[in-house]
Amino acid sequence: MSRSAHPAGPRHADVLPEGHYSAPPTDLNALDRKVWAQTVTRDDDGVVSVGGVGVGRIAEEFGTPAYVLDEADFRARARAWRTAFGEDADVFYAGKAFLSRAVVRWLAEEGLNLDVCSGGELATALSGGMPAERIAFHGNNKSVAEITRAVEAGVGRIVLDSFQEIARVAHVAQSLGTRQKVQIRITVGVEAHTHEFIATAHEDQKFGIPLAGGQAAEAVRRALQLDGLELIGIHSHIGSQIFDMSGFEVAAHRVVGLLKDIRDEHGVELPEIDLGGGLGIAYTSDDDPREPHEIAKALTEIVGRECEAARLRTPRISVEPGRAIVGPTAFTLYEVGTIKPLEGLRTYVSVDGGMSDNIRTALYDAEYSVALVSRVSDAEPMLARVVGKHCESGDIVVRDTFLPADLAPGDLIAVPATGAYCRSMASNYNHVLRPPVVAVQDGEARVIVRRETEEDLLRLDVG
Ligand SMILES: *Cc1c(COP(=O)(O)O)cnc(C)c1O
Repeated sequence: MSRSAHPAGPRHADVLPEGHYSAPPTDLNALDRKVWAQTVTRDDDGVVSVGGVGVGRIAEEFGTPAYVLDEADFRARARAWRTAFGEDADVFYAGKAFLSRAVVRWLAEEGLNLDVCSGGELATALSGGMPAERIAFHGNNKSVAEITRAVEAGVGRIVLDSFQEIARVAHVAQSLGTRQKVQIRITVGVEAHTHEFIATAHEDQKFGIPLAGGQAAEAVRRALQLDGLELIGIHSHIGSQIFDMSGFEVAAHRVVGLLKDIRDEHGVELPEIDLGGGLGIAYTSDDDPREPHEIAKALTEIVGRECEAARLRTPRISVEPGRAIVGPTAFTLYEVGTIKPLEGLRTYVSVDGGMSDNIRTALYDAEYSVALVSRVSDAEPMLARVVGKHCESGDIVVRDTFLPADLAPGDLIAVPATGAYCRSMASNYNHVLRPPVVAVQDGEARVIVRRETEEDLLRLDVG
Protein backbone atom coordinates (compact mmCIF):
# COMPACT_ATOMS: atom_id res chain seq x y z
CA MET A 1 0.00 0.00 0.00
CA SER A 2 1.29 3.40 -0.88
CA ARG A 3 1.44 5.74 2.06
CA SER A 4 2.01 8.76 -0.08
CA ALA A 5 -0.49 11.08 -1.58
CA HIS A 6 -1.45 10.52 -5.18
CA PRO A 7 -2.38 13.06 -7.81
CA ALA A 8 -5.97 14.18 -7.93
CA GLY A 9 -8.14 11.89 -9.97
CA PRO A 10 -9.00 8.26 -9.93
CA ARG A 11 -6.85 5.73 -8.21
CA HIS A 12 -7.32 2.14 -9.22
CA ALA A 13 -8.59 -0.16 -6.55
CA ASP A 14 -5.88 -2.10 -4.83
CA VAL A 15 -6.00 -5.85 -4.56
CA LEU A 16 -6.85 -6.90 -1.01
CA PRO A 17 -3.52 -7.23 0.77
CA GLU A 18 -3.35 -10.47 2.66
CA GLY A 19 -3.95 -10.14 6.38
CA HIS A 20 -5.02 -6.52 6.01
CA TYR A 21 -8.29 -7.24 7.79
CA SER A 22 -9.01 -9.62 10.61
CA ALA A 23 -11.68 -12.30 10.65
CA PRO A 24 -15.24 -11.05 11.11
CA PRO A 25 -16.12 -10.30 14.73
CA THR A 26 -18.31 -12.83 16.48
CA ASP A 27 -20.96 -10.23 17.26
CA LEU A 28 -21.39 -7.36 14.83
CA ASN A 29 -23.72 -5.58 17.25
CA ALA A 30 -21.18 -5.47 20.07
CA LEU A 31 -19.48 -2.16 20.81
CA ASP A 32 -15.87 -2.55 21.89
CA ARG A 33 -15.42 -0.26 24.92
CA LYS A 34 -11.87 0.44 23.82
CA VAL A 35 -12.82 2.36 20.69
CA TRP A 36 -16.06 4.03 21.74
CA ALA A 37 -16.56 7.05 23.99
CA GLN A 38 -17.31 6.18 27.60
CA THR A 39 -21.05 6.81 27.66
CA VAL A 40 -21.81 5.00 24.40
CA THR A 41 -24.29 2.16 24.87
CA ARG A 42 -26.75 0.20 22.80
CA ASP A 43 -30.19 0.74 24.29
CA ASP A 44 -32.87 -1.95 24.67
CA ASP A 45 -34.35 -0.97 21.32
CA GLY A 46 -30.99 -1.66 19.64
CA VAL A 47 -30.29 2.01 18.95
CA VAL A 48 -26.92 3.35 20.07
CA SER A 49 -26.90 6.35 22.36
CA VAL A 50 -24.18 8.57 23.78
CA GLY A 51 -24.50 10.95 26.69
CA GLY A 52 -28.04 9.65 27.03
CA VAL A 53 -29.00 10.81 23.52
CA GLY A 54 -29.97 8.32 20.79
CA VAL A 55 -28.31 8.58 17.40
CA GLY A 56 -31.70 8.74 15.70
CA ARG A 57 -32.53 11.90 17.59
CA ILE A 58 -29.11 13.37 16.80
CA ALA A 59 -29.52 12.65 13.09
CA GLU A 60 -33.01 14.12 13.08
CA GLU A 61 -32.09 17.26 15.00
CA PHE A 62 -28.67 18.03 13.55
CA GLY A 63 -28.49 16.05 10.32
CA THR A 64 -25.70 13.81 9.10
CA PRO A 65 -22.80 13.60 8.85
CA ALA A 66 -22.06 14.92 12.32
CA TYR A 67 -19.24 14.58 14.78
CA VAL A 68 -20.79 13.59 18.11
CA LEU A 69 -18.63 14.40 21.11
CA ASP A 70 -19.11 12.94 24.60
CA GLU A 71 -18.44 15.90 26.90
CA ALA A 72 -18.26 13.82 30.09
CA ASP A 73 -15.69 11.56 28.45
CA PHE A 74 -13.63 14.54 27.27
CA ARG A 75 -13.60 16.04 30.73
CA ALA A 76 -12.82 12.68 32.34
CA ARG A 77 -9.83 12.10 30.06
CA ALA A 78 -8.54 15.64 30.54
CA ARG A 79 -8.87 15.21 34.29
CA ALA A 80 -7.18 11.80 34.20
CA TRP A 81 -4.14 13.33 32.50
CA ARG A 82 -4.10 16.24 34.90
CA THR A 83 -4.39 14.00 37.97
CA ALA A 84 -1.84 11.48 36.67
CA PHE A 85 0.85 14.14 36.28
CA GLY A 86 0.01 15.98 39.49
CA GLU A 87 1.19 19.35 40.68
CA ASP A 88 4.81 19.02 39.61
CA ALA A 89 4.02 18.75 35.92
CA ASP A 90 1.95 20.51 33.30
CA VAL A 91 -0.40 19.00 30.75
CA PHE A 92 -0.78 20.99 27.55
CA TYR A 93 -3.63 19.83 25.33
CA ALA A 94 -2.49 19.98 21.69
CA GLY A 95 -5.14 22.22 20.15
CA LYS A 96 -4.43 21.07 16.61
CA ALA A 97 -6.18 17.75 17.39
CA PHE A 98 -9.48 19.60 17.77
CA LEU A 99 -10.10 23.12 19.00
CA SER A 100 -13.27 25.05 19.66
CA ARG A 101 -14.24 27.59 22.26
CA ALA A 102 -16.29 25.07 24.23
CA VAL A 103 -13.31 22.73 24.36
CA VAL A 104 -11.07 25.57 25.47
CA ARG A 105 -13.48 26.30 28.32
CA TRP A 106 -13.57 22.65 29.41
CA LEU A 107 -9.77 22.52 29.40
CA ALA A 108 -9.48 25.72 31.41
CA GLU A 109 -11.99 24.37 33.94
CA GLU A 110 -10.19 21.02 34.21
CA GLY A 111 -6.84 22.68 34.90
CA LEU A 112 -5.07 21.91 31.64
CA ASN A 113 -2.89 24.19 29.58
CA LEU A 114 -3.11 24.58 25.83
CA ASP A 115 -0.75 24.32 22.85
CA VAL A 116 -1.52 26.36 19.77
CA CYS A 117 0.40 26.49 16.51
CA SER A 118 -1.10 29.33 14.48
CA GLY A 119 -2.65 32.74 14.87
CA GLY A 120 -6.07 31.16 14.32
CA GLU A 121 -5.61 28.64 17.12
CA LEU A 122 -4.29 31.39 19.38
CA ALA A 123 -7.36 33.53 18.63
CA THR A 124 -9.65 30.58 19.43
CA ALA A 125 -7.78 29.85 22.66
CA LEU A 126 -7.99 33.45 23.86
CA SER A 127 -11.58 33.83 22.75
CA GLY A 128 -12.49 30.63 24.59
CA GLY A 129 -11.11 32.10 27.79
CA MET A 130 -7.83 30.26 28.25
CA PRO A 131 -5.58 32.51 30.35
CA ALA A 132 -2.66 33.57 28.13
CA GLU A 133 -0.04 32.39 30.60
CA ARG A 134 -1.36 28.85 30.18
CA ILE A 135 -0.89 28.92 26.40
CA ALA A 136 2.21 27.63 24.57
CA PHE A 137 2.85 28.73 21.01
CA HIS A 138 4.37 26.21 18.57
CA GLY A 139 5.19 26.09 14.88
CA ASN A 140 8.14 26.01 12.52
CA ASN A 141 7.26 29.20 10.68
CA LYS A 142 5.43 31.59 12.95
CA SER A 143 5.03 34.94 11.26
CA VAL A 144 6.26 38.11 12.91
CA ALA A 145 2.63 39.18 13.19
CA GLU A 146 1.77 35.92 15.01
CA ILE A 147 4.77 36.25 17.30
CA THR A 148 3.85 39.85 18.08
CA ARG A 149 0.27 38.88 18.87
CA ALA A 150 1.45 36.07 21.14
CA VAL A 151 3.96 38.22 23.03
CA GLU A 152 1.43 41.03 23.41
CA ALA A 153 -1.18 38.61 24.69
CA GLY A 154 1.33 37.35 27.22
CA VAL A 155 1.49 33.67 26.29
CA GLY A 156 3.24 31.51 28.85
CA ARG A 157 5.82 30.22 26.43
CA ILE A 158 6.87 30.30 22.84
CA VAL A 159 8.56 27.16 21.59
CA LEU A 160 11.45 28.30 19.39
CA ASP A 161 11.85 26.12 16.34
CA SER A 162 14.73 27.64 14.36
CA PHE A 163 17.68 30.00 14.59
CA GLN A 164 15.76 32.74 12.77
CA GLU A 165 12.99 32.45 15.30
CA ILE A 166 15.34 32.88 18.24
CA ALA A 167 16.29 36.26 16.81
CA ARG A 168 12.73 37.16 15.78
CA VAL A 169 11.10 36.46 19.12
CA ALA A 170 13.92 38.21 20.99
CA HIS A 171 13.50 41.25 18.76
CA VAL A 172 9.72 41.38 19.13
CA ALA A 173 9.88 40.95 22.90
CA GLN A 174 12.54 43.58 23.29
CA SER A 175 10.72 46.10 21.16
CA LEU A 176 7.62 45.52 23.27
CA GLY A 177 9.74 46.08 26.35
CA THR A 178 9.26 42.60 27.73
CA ARG A 179 11.06 39.28 28.23
CA GLN A 180 9.37 36.27 26.68
CA LYS A 181 9.56 32.84 28.27
CA VAL A 182 10.73 30.35 25.65
CA GLN A 183 11.67 26.75 25.17
CA ILE A 184 13.86 25.46 22.36
CA ARG A 185 12.50 22.55 20.35
CA ILE A 186 15.24 20.13 19.47
CA THR A 187 15.24 16.97 17.40
CA VAL A 188 16.99 14.18 19.23
CA GLY A 189 17.18 11.65 16.40
CA VAL A 190 14.38 9.48 17.76
CA GLU A 191 11.32 8.73 15.69
CA ALA A 192 8.47 6.84 17.29
CA HIS A 193 5.28 5.47 15.75
CA THR A 194 2.94 2.89 17.22
CA HIS A 195 4.94 -0.11 18.41
CA GLU A 196 8.36 0.81 17.10
CA PHE A 197 10.85 3.56 17.39
CA ILE A 198 14.11 4.34 15.67
CA ALA A 199 16.81 5.71 17.95
CA THR A 200 19.05 6.75 15.09
CA ALA A 201 16.48 8.46 12.93
CA HIS A 202 17.76 11.10 10.60
CA GLU A 203 16.88 14.51 11.83
CA ASP A 204 15.48 14.94 8.36
CA GLN A 205 12.34 16.92 9.16
CA LYS A 206 11.21 20.50 9.19
CA PHE A 207 10.65 20.80 12.93
CA GLY A 208 13.19 21.68 15.56
CA ILE A 209 16.90 22.26 15.85
CA PRO A 210 19.08 19.14 15.62
CA LEU A 211 20.93 17.99 18.69
CA ALA A 212 23.53 16.59 16.32
CA GLY A 213 26.50 18.68 15.28
CA GLY A 214 26.23 20.97 18.30
CA GLN A 215 23.35 22.90 16.74
CA ALA A 216 21.07 22.69 19.77
CA ALA A 217 23.92 23.78 22.03
CA GLU A 218 24.51 26.76 19.75
CA ALA A 219 20.82 27.66 19.85
CA VAL A 220 20.92 27.61 23.65
CA ARG A 221 24.04 29.82 23.64
CA ARG A 222 22.25 32.42 21.52
CA ALA A 223 18.99 32.30 23.46
CA LEU A 224 20.80 32.78 26.76
CA GLN A 225 22.53 35.89 25.44
CA LEU A 226 19.45 37.70 24.22
CA ASP A 227 17.76 40.16 26.57
CA GLY A 228 14.30 39.59 25.12
CA LEU A 229 14.29 35.87 25.98
CA GLU A 230 14.00 33.90 29.18
CA LEU A 231 14.99 30.35 28.31
CA ILE A 232 12.99 28.02 30.55
CA GLY A 233 13.56 24.64 28.97
CA ILE A 234 14.06 22.17 26.17
CA HIS A 235 11.30 20.62 24.09
CA SER A 236 11.21 17.31 22.23
CA HIS A 237 8.32 15.65 20.36
CA ILE A 238 9.12 12.28 18.84
CA GLY A 239 6.10 11.09 16.87
CA SER A 240 2.45 10.15 16.94
CA GLN A 241 0.15 7.25 17.84
CA ILE A 242 2.89 5.82 20.11
CA PHE A 243 2.21 2.81 22.34
CA ASP A 244 5.72 1.95 23.40
CA MET A 245 7.49 4.12 25.98
CA SER A 246 11.05 3.19 25.02
CA GLY A 247 11.27 5.96 22.41
CA PHE A 248 10.60 8.49 25.19
CA GLU A 249 13.32 6.85 27.25
CA VAL A 250 15.95 7.46 24.58
CA ALA A 251 14.63 10.98 23.90
CA ALA A 252 14.68 11.88 27.61
CA HIS A 253 18.21 10.54 27.91
CA ARG A 254 19.36 12.80 25.09
CA VAL A 255 17.48 15.88 26.31
CA VAL A 256 18.87 15.46 29.81
CA GLY A 257 22.33 15.09 28.24
CA LEU A 258 21.85 18.51 26.71
CA LEU A 259 20.66 19.97 30.04
CA LYS A 260 23.85 18.65 31.60
CA ASP A 261 25.99 20.21 28.86
CA ILE A 262 24.17 23.51 29.42
CA ARG A 263 24.87 23.35 33.13
CA ASP A 264 28.54 22.57 32.51
CA GLU A 265 28.98 25.34 29.94
CA HIS A 266 26.77 28.11 31.33
CA GLY A 267 26.29 27.21 34.98
CA VAL A 268 22.49 27.23 34.60
CA GLU A 269 20.08 24.37 35.18
CA LEU A 270 17.05 24.91 32.95
CA PRO A 271 13.90 24.39 35.01
CA GLU A 272 11.67 22.62 32.45
CA ILE A 273 11.59 19.75 30.01
CA ASP A 274 8.75 19.12 27.59
CA LEU A 275 8.42 15.63 26.16
CA GLY A 276 5.72 16.46 23.60
CA GLY A 277 2.67 14.38 22.78
CA GLY A 278 1.96 11.49 20.47
CA LEU A 279 0.43 8.97 22.87
CA GLY A 280 -1.65 6.42 21.01
CA ILE A 281 -5.35 5.56 21.20
CA ALA A 282 -7.44 2.59 20.06
CA TYR A 283 -8.87 3.00 16.59
CA THR A 284 -9.62 -0.69 16.28
CA SER A 285 -9.87 -3.59 18.74
CA ASP A 286 -6.25 -4.49 17.92
CA ASP A 287 -4.87 -1.36 19.59
CA ASP A 288 -3.96 -1.38 23.30
CA PRO A 289 -3.22 2.11 24.54
CA ARG A 290 -1.79 2.85 27.97
CA GLU A 291 -3.63 4.71 30.69
CA PRO A 292 -2.48 8.25 31.59
CA HIS A 293 -1.32 7.17 35.05
CA GLU A 294 0.96 4.51 33.55
CA ILE A 295 2.37 7.03 31.09
CA ALA A 296 2.89 9.64 33.82
CA LYS A 297 4.64 7.11 36.04
CA ALA A 298 6.90 5.91 33.24
CA LEU A 299 7.86 9.41 32.05
CA THR A 300 8.43 10.75 35.57
CA GLU A 301 10.65 7.78 36.41
CA ILE A 302 12.64 8.05 33.20
CA VAL A 303 13.35 11.77 33.67
CA GLY A 304 14.09 11.31 37.40
CA ARG A 305 16.54 8.51 36.71
CA GLU A 306 18.32 10.36 33.92
CA CYS A 307 18.64 13.52 36.01
CA GLU A 308 19.94 11.62 38.99
CA ALA A 309 22.60 10.01 36.81
CA ALA A 310 23.55 13.45 35.45
CA ARG A 311 23.40 15.00 38.95
CA LEU A 312 20.82 17.52 37.85
CA ARG A 313 17.84 18.82 39.76
CA THR A 314 14.81 17.15 38.20
CA PRO A 315 13.13 19.72 35.96
CA ARG A 316 9.40 20.32 35.81
CA ILE A 317 7.95 18.02 33.16
CA SER A 318 5.32 18.95 30.63
CA VAL A 319 3.51 16.78 28.11
CA GLU A 320 1.27 17.60 25.17
CA PRO A 321 -1.38 14.97 24.51
CA GLY A 322 -3.88 15.85 21.81
CA ARG A 323 -5.26 12.66 20.30
CA ALA A 324 -5.12 10.80 23.64
CA ILE A 325 -7.61 13.25 25.15
CA VAL A 326 -10.05 14.11 22.36
CA GLY A 327 -9.60 11.19 19.95
CA PRO A 328 -11.75 8.57 21.68
CA THR A 329 -14.42 11.04 22.80
CA ALA A 330 -16.17 11.47 19.44
CA PHE A 331 -17.60 9.41 16.62
CA THR A 332 -18.77 10.46 13.19
CA LEU A 333 -22.39 9.67 12.46
CA TYR A 334 -23.17 8.99 8.79
CA GLU A 335 -26.21 7.92 6.84
CA VAL A 336 -25.76 5.09 4.38
CA GLY A 337 -26.53 6.24 0.83
CA THR A 338 -25.70 3.72 -1.86
CA ILE A 339 -24.51 0.14 -1.53
CA LYS A 340 -22.58 -1.67 -4.25
CA PRO A 341 -21.82 -5.37 -3.75
CA LEU A 342 -18.93 -6.67 -5.87
CA GLU A 343 -19.14 -10.43 -6.10
CA GLY A 344 -16.04 -12.10 -4.65
CA LEU A 345 -14.48 -8.78 -3.66
CA ARG A 346 -16.33 -6.65 -1.16
CA THR A 347 -19.29 -4.34 -0.77
CA TYR A 348 -18.84 -0.61 -1.16
CA VAL A 349 -20.93 1.33 1.32
CA SER A 350 -21.18 5.03 0.50
CA VAL A 351 -21.88 7.56 3.21
CA ASP A 352 -22.89 11.21 3.09
CA GLY A 353 -19.41 12.51 4.01
CA GLY A 354 -15.95 11.12 3.41
CA MET A 355 -12.46 12.47 2.94
CA SER A 356 -13.62 16.04 3.59
CA ASP A 357 -14.55 15.10 7.18
CA ASN A 358 -11.92 12.38 7.70
CA ILE A 359 -8.78 12.69 5.58
CA ARG A 360 -6.71 10.37 7.76
CA THR A 361 -7.47 7.16 5.89
CA ALA A 362 -6.52 8.67 2.55
CA LEU A 363 -3.57 10.58 3.99
CA TYR A 364 -1.97 8.04 6.33
CA ASP A 365 -3.72 4.75 5.60
CA ALA A 366 -5.25 5.14 9.05
CA GLU A 367 -7.45 2.30 10.25
CA TYR A 368 -10.88 2.81 11.74
CA SER A 369 -13.78 0.72 13.00
CA VAL A 370 -17.43 1.17 12.11
CA ALA A 371 -20.75 -0.08 13.40
CA LEU A 372 -24.40 -0.04 12.42
CA VAL A 373 -25.90 2.15 15.15
CA SER A 374 -29.55 2.81 14.26
CA ARG A 375 -30.62 -0.81 14.87
CA VAL A 376 -29.28 -4.27 15.60
CA SER A 377 -28.99 -6.92 12.95
CA ASP A 378 -28.55 -10.66 13.02
CA ALA A 379 -27.55 -10.87 9.36
CA GLU A 380 -24.27 -12.45 8.29
CA PRO A 381 -21.17 -10.24 8.23
CA MET A 382 -20.15 -8.87 4.84
CA LEU A 383 -16.70 -7.58 3.96
CA ALA A 384 -17.21 -3.89 3.38
CA ARG A 385 -15.38 -0.73 2.50
CA VAL A 386 -16.91 2.50 3.75
CA VAL A 387 -16.37 5.26 1.22
CA GLY A 388 -17.38 8.88 0.91
CA LYS A 389 -19.21 10.92 -1.71
CA HIS A 390 -16.21 12.72 -3.18
CA CYS A 391 -14.91 12.56 -6.75
CA GLU A 392 -11.82 10.60 -5.84
CA SER A 393 -11.28 6.85 -5.70
CA GLY A 394 -9.06 7.30 -2.65
CA ASP A 395 -12.04 8.72 -0.75
CA ILE A 396 -12.12 5.90 1.79
CA VAL A 397 -13.26 6.20 5.39
CA VAL A 398 -12.80 2.59 6.55
CA ARG A 399 -10.75 0.46 4.19
CA ASP A 400 -11.65 -3.06 5.33
CA THR A 401 -14.35 -3.85 7.80
CA PHE A 402 -17.40 -6.03 8.36
CA LEU A 403 -20.96 -4.78 8.40
CA PRO A 404 -24.19 -6.77 8.51
CA ALA A 405 -25.23 -8.06 5.08
CA ASP A 406 -28.71 -6.56 5.43
CA LEU A 407 -27.34 -3.02 5.62
CA ALA A 408 -29.65 -0.70 3.72
CA PRO A 409 -29.76 2.89 2.51
CA GLY A 410 -31.00 5.10 5.33
CA ASP A 411 -29.27 3.09 8.06
CA LEU A 412 -27.04 5.11 10.36
CA ILE A 413 -23.48 3.95 10.82
CA ALA A 414 -20.84 5.47 13.07
CA VAL A 415 -17.06 5.56 12.93
CA PRO A 416 -15.58 5.82 16.44
CA ALA A 417 -12.39 7.57 17.59
CA THR A 418 -12.76 10.50 15.20
CA GLY A 419 -12.33 13.22 17.84
CA ALA A 420 -8.76 14.05 16.80
CA TYR A 421 -7.51 15.26 13.42
CA CYS A 422 -10.86 14.87 11.67
CA ARG A 423 -12.82 18.11 12.16
CA SER A 424 -9.52 19.97 12.54
CA MET A 425 -8.33 18.65 9.15
CA ALA A 426 -11.71 18.89 7.44
CA SER A 427 -11.87 20.51 4.02
CA ASN A 428 -14.44 21.81 1.56
CA TYR A 429 -13.40 19.45 -1.21
CA ASN A 430 -16.16 19.26 -3.83
CA HIS A 431 -17.73 22.15 -1.91
CA VAL A 432 -19.07 19.68 0.59
CA LEU A 433 -20.12 21.47 3.76
CA ARG A 434 -18.15 20.64 6.87
CA PRO A 435 -20.20 18.78 9.50
CA PRO A 436 -21.11 20.18 12.90
CA VAL A 437 -19.66 19.07 16.20
CA VAL A 438 -22.47 18.13 18.56
CA ALA A 439 -21.62 17.80 22.24
CA VAL A 440 -23.78 15.45 24.27
CA GLN A 441 -24.10 15.08 28.01
CA ASP A 442 -26.80 13.95 30.47
CA GLY A 443 -29.48 13.52 27.84
CA GLU A 444 -28.80 16.83 26.15
CA ALA A 445 -27.22 17.58 22.80
CA ARG A 446 -25.97 20.95 21.65
CA VAL A 447 -23.97 22.22 18.72
CA ILE A 448 -20.52 23.52 19.65
CA VAL A 449 -19.37 24.03 16.05
CA ARG A 450 -22.26 24.46 13.65
CA ARG A 451 -22.60 22.86 10.23
CA GLU A 452 -21.26 24.91 7.37
CA THR A 453 -23.87 26.33 5.04
CA GLU A 454 -23.86 27.22 1.37
CA GLU A 455 -23.96 30.80 2.53
CA ASP A 456 -20.68 30.27 4.38
CA LEU A 457 -19.17 28.91 1.20
CA LEU A 458 -20.41 31.72 -0.99
CA ARG A 459 -19.42 34.41 1.49
CA LEU A 460 -15.77 33.72 0.72
CA ASP A 461 -16.37 33.70 -3.00
CA VAL A 462 -16.57 37.38 -3.82
CA GLY A 463 -17.56 36.82 -7.44
C1 LIG B 1 1.03 17.16 17.14
C2 LIG B 1 1.78 17.53 18.35
C3 LIG B 1 1.32 17.13 19.61
C4 LIG B 1 0.11 16.27 19.81
O1 LIG B 1 0.22 15.04 19.21
P1 LIG B 1 -0.89 13.92 19.55
O2 LIG B 1 -0.48 12.77 18.68
O3 LIG B 1 -2.21 14.47 19.18
O4 LIG B 1 -0.77 13.63 21.00
C5 LIG B 1 2.03 17.57 20.71
N1 LIG B 1 3.12 18.34 20.58
C6 LIG B 1 3.58 18.74 19.39
C7 LIG B 1 4.76 19.62 19.34
C8 LIG B 1 2.93 18.36 18.23
O5 LIG B 1 3.40 18.76 17.05
